[in-house]
Amino acid sequence: MSSVAVGFDIDHTLAIDNKLERVAFLHLLERVIESGGKALGTLAEESNNIDALLAYQRGGACTIEEAVNRFVRERGVRPHEDYVEGFKRMALAMGETFVVPDPEAKPMIDVLAAGGVTLGVLSNGWSPLQELKARRAGFTGKVLASGDLGVQKPDPRAFLALAEGLEMQPQSCFYVGDDPRADVVGALSAGFQAVWLDNEGKTYPPDLPAPSHIIRSLRELPVLIGAVALR
Ligand SMILES: [Mg+2]
Repeated sequence: MSSVAVGFDIDHTLAIDNKLERVAFLHLLERVIESGGKALGTLAEESNNIDALLAYQRGGACTIEEAVNRFVRERGVRPHEDYVEGFKRMALAMGETFVVPDPEAKPMIDVLAAGGVTLGVLSNGWSPLQELKARRAGFTGKVLASGDLGVQKPDPRAFLALAEGLEMQPQSCFYVGDDPRADVVGALSAGFQAVWLDNEGKTYPPDLPAPSHIIRSLRELPVLIGAVALR
C-alpha cells in the first residue's frame, strides 16, 4: 500500500475545535473595549460578526493577522501586533481543551500508517494552531497550513503543495474532507481522488462535481484505500 498517499482535512474531519477562534476573538473584544474601543453590537451580534470574519479569512480573502487587525480597527482601536500575538496565544492555550478528536481518527491513522501509507494534513488555517489540532487527533506527520502556503483550499495549488510535500504524484493521492467545495472540488481539480466524509448528514450539493468516493465514517477509510491501492 506504500504506492498511495492520503491527505486529510482537520476541522470536522479529524477533529472539532468547538469554535475556539470565535472565543479567542470574543476575549480580544474585551481587550479592545478596555483599550477604549467599542463593540459593534450585542455579544450575540458580535459572535455572528466574528463567524463572518473567520469565514472570510478561511475562504482565503485575508490572513489571520489581517483579520485581527481589521477586527480591532473596526472597533476603533489602532492595530498593534500585541493584539495579533494575544489572539494567537489565547487560541493556542484553548487548543488542548477545545479541540476534540474524532474517536475514529487515531485508530484509522494507525492502521494506514502500519500499512505503509504516506499521510499528510492540509488545512485552511494558521500555524501552529493547525499542528496542535492534528496532534490532538493523533496525527504526527506533515501538516500544511494555508497560512504558510499562501494559498487556501479549494485552490488546486494547495493540494499540489501537499502532493509535493509527500513526494507523491497527485494521481496517487487521496484527500479526505467534509467540505464539498474546499475539500472535494479542490482535490479533484488537483488530480487527487477525493473522498467525501459524510458523517454529519449533509446533502452533497448537486451542482458540484461528485466525489470519487464517499465514506460515512473514518473507520471505512483503510478498507477503501486498501481496495483501491490493490486494484
Ligand atoms: Mg473541514
